[in-house]
Amino acid sequence: MSNLKIGVLTLQGGFDKHIESLVKLGVTVVKVREALELDGIDGLVIPGGESTTIIRLLKNFRIYDALRDKIVKGLPVFGTCAGMILLSSGITSHRDQETLNLMNYKVSRNDYGRQIDSFDALLNISGLGEDPVPAVFIRAPRITEIADSVEILSEYEGSPVMVREKNMLAASFHPELTDDTRVHSLFISMIKNLKMSVQNQI
Ligand code: GLN
Repeated sequence: MSNLKIGVLTLQGGFDKHIESLVKLGVTVVKVREALELDGIDGLVIPGGESTTIIRLLKNFRIYDALRDKIVKGLPVFGTCAGMILLSSGITSHRDQETLNLMNYKVSRNDYGRQIDSFDALLNISGLGEDPVPAVFIRAPRITEIADSVEILSEYEGSPVMVREKNMLAASFHPELTDDTRVHSLFISMIKNLKMSVQNQI
């Protein structure tokens, strides 16, 4: 068991399955829909969904600035699919669409095809051993530009599909739609390691 409190942004999209995966791993889950609910959490998952809708709701619910500020100050975050789009520094396929502009990569939306082209893949993910991890891609974003400061944890057909930069983790796919909880465990380990390094600095 772990006494970590992890928030899941529940404005829109596929947050339920993320909550299930995190509960399975023994953490306390907090649903986040407003800025005050960001207080006291140890990490945050931004789920898949419709990135245009999520960004609009972040603004309407006046959470955009608080959320961005917390992440800049070190709140660990994990964005999947639309969440990966939100964390990016820009969208090459939809240049006018705003993002949180936090991680140094750009994406092209829906680049692996439409809903009917959704597919499952087995991925080798750095830090998760030899056993490949099942991943579901649904209208997934493709990373089209990436800076050296971003670590690539997994690639699929030559494109990065899971990346990390400082306290931020992002995946093009949906790890929560399988029974395998290793990707969420990786996020939890990342949170624990970041907490330890902060404590060591004090
Ligand atoms: N296609 C969606 C978008 O561009 C993302 C899809 C997803 O999160 N499964 O926002």
